[in-house]
Amino acid sequence: METNFSKEQLKDKDNKSSEKIFRKCVHCGFCNATCPTYQLLGDELDGPRGRIYLIKDMLENNKPANSKIVKHIDRCLSCYSCMTTCPSGVNYMHLIDHGRAHIEKTYKRPFWDKITRNFLSSVLTSTFKFKFILILTQFVKPFYFLFSKKIRLMISLMPMKLPKKTLPKMQIYSPLKRKKPVARVALLTGCVQKVLSPQINEATIRLLNRHGIEVVVPKGINCCGSLDHHLGKGELAFKTFKKNISIWYDEYLKNGLDAIISNTSGCGTTIKDYGFIFRSNDDFKKKAKKISELTKDISEYLEEKVKLNFVIKPTNGKKYKIAYHSACSLQHGQKVHNEAINLIKKTGNDVLEISDGHICCGSAGTYNLLQNEIANELLKNKVNNIEKINPQFISTGNIGCITHIANGTKIPVLHTVEVIDWYTGGPKPEILKNI
Ligand code: SF4
Ligand code: SF4
Repeated sequence: METNFSKEQLKDKDNKSSEKIFRKCVHCGFCNATCPTYQLLGDELDGPRGRIYLIKDMLENNKPANSKIVKHIDRCLSCYSCMTTCPSGVNYMHLIDHGRAHIEKTYKRPFWDKITRNFLSSVLTSTFKFKFILILTQFVKPFYFLFSKKIRLMISLMPMKLPKKTLPKMQIYSPLKRKKPVARVALLTGCVQKVLSPQINEATIRLLNRHGIEVVVPKGINCCGSLDHHLGKGELAFKTFKKNISIWYDEYLKNGLDAIISNTSGCGTTIKDYGFIFRSNDDFKKKAKKISELTKDISEYLEEKVKLNFVIKPTNGKKYKIAYHSACSLQHGQKVHNEAINLIKKTGNDVLEISDGHICCGSAGTYNLLQNEIANELLKNKVNNIEKINPQFISTGNIGCITHIANGTKIPVLHTVEVIDWYTGGPKPEILKNI
């Protein structure tokens, strides 16, 4: 694709990177074929190629965003299915991130839109605020007609009761039976996940400890910053990124870390991109690169580094039919797909393939709250494809997908790490107690 950035514009590091990406695009349109919003809406501007043109036009012409551009960019799920399909290696993720940051700087969003986005940014990135809102929700439910449509939707999605935690809150979880751990990893426990589904982190810690691996949860790390990053809130996101990089790097230097484990694939994708985000920052470049290199999704780490000891064998256990839902941030964002499937296969159960498995379920961070109609259409399609193959439960690697898919089906949905923990000596997951 031809570009027309001036020399002056190319002094900006983000313009410089984006220009290189634009030049790779040969506008073949192959990416439209696997774009969920293009498939649903059929509009060129709701596909990756159209969005690339919109972003290029804004950046090249120093054009402020307008409502038409914002509509089409906001509809992008950041599922990165287009990146898997593109034969030219166009890094759409970096373009859409740049486009969103430009929108945030140059566009004045309508009042309720702004309030909703600020509310989500403030509440979902803070465990304390999220818990407070959960409690408050129980009281405001009778008056929820007073709020905007999006806030009403969020209130309706809030659970009435939270699951109980079974592990004490600590900074270091050491393996019990060994004097010296075989490895030492940091775990990102996340912001929303540890409130909504603490069992995911607990299964991760138990499983790693059982295999001789020490798990550290450094104080001060909550959110990975991806939520603000995808909302275009650069300043807030960068503050979080820098804090996380400093804390993890310090831990790496002082006590040693073999890996940083993410069990929320949306977060893992962003942390693996810290190196790119800080590519021109002299203070953080080296540290950010190291943090990205150390980061592994839990399925990737288990498959590559851990010799798992399965105690439930197919001969003495029941054989289940498990549908594996590959979260977009994992399969397209991190190119990690077969690892989780291989792990589940090792349990001796059957892994069922979901047709159109490359297409997003509609969860996509805050997307199901901000673009509810499209998200619901995608959910309907995903659930149809899952129910067609009649699994006993669904396994996936992202809390967003778990909560979103669970809203559309009665089939239990759980994290892959809960399945692996169970088959290597952990408790049977509560959600499966009746099957
Ligand atoms: S598939 Fe790649 S090269 Fe082709 S239009 Fe899409 S982004 Fe551009
Ligand atoms: S990230 Fe997903 S929704 Fe956005 S353009 Fe690419 S395929 Fe379409």
